[in-house]
Amino acid sequence: IDPDSERLTPTDRDIERVLRPQVFEDFTGQFKLLENLRIFVQAAKQRGESLDHVLLHGPPGLGKTTLSHIIANEMGVNIKITSGPVLDKPGDLAGLLTNLEEGDILFIDEIHRLSPVVEEYLYSAMEDFKIDIMLESGPNARSVQITLNPFTLIGATTRSGLLTAPLRARFGINSRLEYYDAKLLTTIVLRSSSILKTPITETGAYEIARRSRGTPRIANALLRRTRDFAQIKGNGSIDTDIAKYALNALNVDSYGLDEMDNKILVTIIDKFKGGPVGLKTIATAVGEDEGTIEEVYEPFLIQEGFLMRTARGREVTDLAYRHLGRLKATDHPT
Ligand code: ADP
Repeated sequence: IDPDSERLTPTDRDIERVLRPQVFEDFTGQFKLLENLRIFVQAAKQRGESLDHVLLHGPPGLGKTTLSHIIANEMGVNIKITSGPVLDKPGDLAGLLTNLEEGDILFIDEIHRLSPVVEEYLYSAMEDFKIDIMLESGPNARSVQITLNPFTLIGATTRSGLLTAPLRARFGINSRLEYYDAKLLTTIVLRSSSILKTPITETGAYEIARRSRGTPRIANALLRRTRDFAQIKGNGSIDTDIAKYALNALNVDSYGLDEMDNKILVTIIDKFKGGPVGLKTIATAVGEDEGTIEEVYEPFLIQEGFLMRTARGREVTDLAYRHLGRLKATDHPT
C-alpha cells in the first residue's frame, strides 16, 4: 500500500522526521479537519480530559501520522506508536495499554488490519478504560479486570471500508484526509527546501508539487531526489529546468500519476473502450483489490479529472486519452 515509505533509506527516514510539522501552525492544508481538531483539542485541554478517540482515514502519505504527533504535542502528552499487523495477541495490546499515562495517545496505524480478537479486546479499553488480564495459565488461569488511565486512541487507515461497524462506532472523532492541490504542495515543498537549506524557485517548487500525486510524502521524496540532481548536474539550487530534468530522469509522470493509476486508465481504454465498466471488472483486469482501487486510487483519478463515476460504471475522460496518447474510437480518421 505504501511503496514509497519502503523505498526510503535510513537517511531518508531521518530527513522525513526533520521535515515533519510539529504543531498545527506548521501543518499545511486539510483546513476544515484542522479547524475542528484544534477545537476538540482546546476543549479537552480546558476540561482537563483526554481527547476523544480519533479515526483518521485517507490514502497513504497525506499526514495521518504527522497529525497524530501534532495532536500529542498540542495536548502535551506522550504518544506510543504501533500498527494493526504488529499487534498479534491481546497480550501485546494489554502491555501497551497498561503503560499509558493519563491522557497519552496510542496510535495504531493500519487499524483495519487488527485481528478480530485484538479488536474485540480493544472495545472495553476504548469504552470504559478497562481490560481483562489473564493471570497464570492452565487450570489456575483466572482473569482480573484492570482499570486503565484514560487515553486517546488514534487509529489510522487507508481502507476505512474495511473497518467493522463496532470499531468505527467507538471513535468520537472521525476525519478524512483529502489529496492536496498543487498550490498547497508548493507551500510544503518550499517549507521543506528551506529546512533542508536548498535554494529553490517558486516555479521549481511548483513543478515538483504538481507531479507529486497530491501527496506530501511523495513531494518531499521528489524534492530530495531533485536536490541530488541540482547538486551534481547544476549549481545546487533548484529551478524549473533542473526540476524538469530530474523528474524526467526519475520517470515521474507529468501529472504525477503512478504505475497503478496509469494501468487502471490504460486498461479501461484498451480493454473496455474507455468504459463505462464496473469496478469489479477493472479490479480483476489490473490485478488489484477492488476496495483498494475504490479508496486509494480512484479518488485521485477522479479529483484530477481522469476518471468519472457514472451510474453504469467507471469511464475515462478525454484528458486520460490525451495523457496516455491514445485515440478515442470516435477520433479515428475514417
Ligand atoms: P500518513 O501517516 O498519512 O501515511 P505521514 O504523516 O507519515 O502520512 O506523512 C508523510 C510525510 O509527509 C511526513 O513526513 C511529513 O513530512 C509530510 N507531510 C504530510 N502532511 C503534511 C502537511 N500537511 N504539511 C507538511 N508536510 C506534511
